[in-house]
Amino acid sequence: MIRLLDIFDELDKHYQQAQNNYNSSVRAMTISSVIFAIIFVVIIISGIVAFIRYNKRHKSISPSKLNEIFEEPEQKEEGPEFCEYCGAMLEKTDKVCPRCGANIKR
Ligand SMILES: [Zn+2]
Repeated sequence: MIRLLDIFDELDKHYQQAQNNYNSSVRAMTISSVIFAIIFVVIIISGIVAFIRYNKRHKSISPSKLNEIFEEPEQKEEGPEFCEYCGAMLEKTDKVCPRCGANIKR
């Protein structure tokens, strides 16, 4: 009878030890997953911050620079010109209409 109790006691010890091991492994997993989550969040936040900084830098540059690059050449070449008297298409170098000879106002 005493032996049987001893065995039960031993089994209980083993059970508790196993549960402790399980708890500690669960805790270790939790800690490592928390660390991974923190690293993940830090990476995402730094990525977002870098993206926002990149966007801000490019937005602050783009309005003036894009105007310089794209809008001024467009204003200089306004597409095909036509004579206001006869409607003939004019070359940019023409000073008089090649068809009717009218002076071209520019
Ligand atoms: Zn003309």
